[in-house]
Amino acid sequence: MTRHRVTFIPGDGVGPEITAVARRVIAASGADIEWEVVEAGEAVIPDYGTPLPGRVLESIRRNRVALKGPLTTPVGRGFRSVNVTLRQELGLYANVRPARSLPGIRSRYEDVDLIVVRENTEDLYAGIEHWCGRDAAESIKLITRPASERIVRFAFELARREGRKKVTAVHKANIMKYTDGLFLECARKVAEEYPDIPYEEWIVDAMAMKLVQAPENFDVLVMPNLYGDILSDLCAGLVGGLGVAPGANIGDEAAVFEPVHGSAPKYTGQNKVNPLAAVLSGVLMLRHLDEAGAADRIMRGVVAVLTKGETVTYDLGGTASTDRMGEAIITEMKAE
Ligand code: NAD
Repeated sequence: MTRHRVTFIPGDGVGPEITAVARRVIAASGADIEWEVVEAGEAVIPDYGTPLPGRVLESIRRNRVALKGPLTTPVGRGFRSVNVTLRQELGLYANVRPARSLPGIRSRYEDVDLIVVRENTEDLYAGIEHWCGRDAAESIKLITRPASERIVRFAFELARREGRKKVTAVHKANIMKYTDGLFLECARKVAEEYPDIPYEEWIVDAMAMKLVQAPENFDVLVMPNLYGDILSDLCAGLVGGLGVAPGANIGDEAAVFEPVHGSAPKYTGQNKVNPLAAVLSGVLMLRHLDEAGAADRIMRGVVAVLTKGETVTYDLGGTASTDRMGEAIITEMKAE
């Protein structure tokens, strides 16, 4: 069995509670993981003067894989978003957010199986902003050819690898003719390299409507950063909400797996929130590490718990605690 060394960042708020569950579930899956625990976030600011000490980045660079809890971005204290900085520093250019219907989760849709591939390094989300006097502020939307081609190619490669039925590019090039126009031009060019995979385009506002009307019509969606931020939460809402939405940030040198949701500060320390987004991020990580058997084992445990519906957290209509839901998943994994 291959031993993997993985950086583990517990995170802020509810992060330590949900990532601890993910770790226990991964341990029960049989995968051989040696965790290197590094702290980041609010708790380390007094010691390091920053929520993202250099040793965190060094650890991820060394191990090339990390499992991370959410990190709070301190408001109005001069810090850039820790998550944006981490993605930029490590060149994690692809943000991958699967949204898949799971049995037992009550939602309006049953057959959703989407993957949002979000460009992770530029667009308005890069936060290049300045004041124009006291009463106006300006934000720069930077879109480049290399980053656009890279993310679309990533989406097509993923579609090919996973046998997906089509790739949809999302844009607003009818209005932002230069920036989104460039993204679209790149998407069309890269699509020609993949004649075996159907390709289509949607304007972002129409895409939002279509996703709530008929999400089963879509498969891999690729888009610039800000649209991806918004539509991936919409897609999480199609399949049960933020408590069940996993994510991956992938680059050529490293990959960081984390729930889509944030640190949910109002629930900190209450052992209450859903650990599934963290557990499913662990499943994505195991597949990335070629540990398909361990990943499948966890999925069988998760599906069993959700199907029975007795030991789920409040957001899924239950009363189980974070820990209790984690234990139930492990029990089901062992029951096979
Ligand atoms: P949030 O995702 O933390 O929480 C919003 C609400 O979603 C919660 O109040 C709760 O009702 C629900 N929710 C979130 N996670 C849940 C779970 N596991 N189970 C059940 N319900 C859940 O969003 P926010 O309050 O806007 O952000 C809080 C902090 O998190 C901010 O500082 C933000 O910058 C940060 N954040 C970090 C990340 C990250 O680390 N990747 C992502 C998003 C937000």
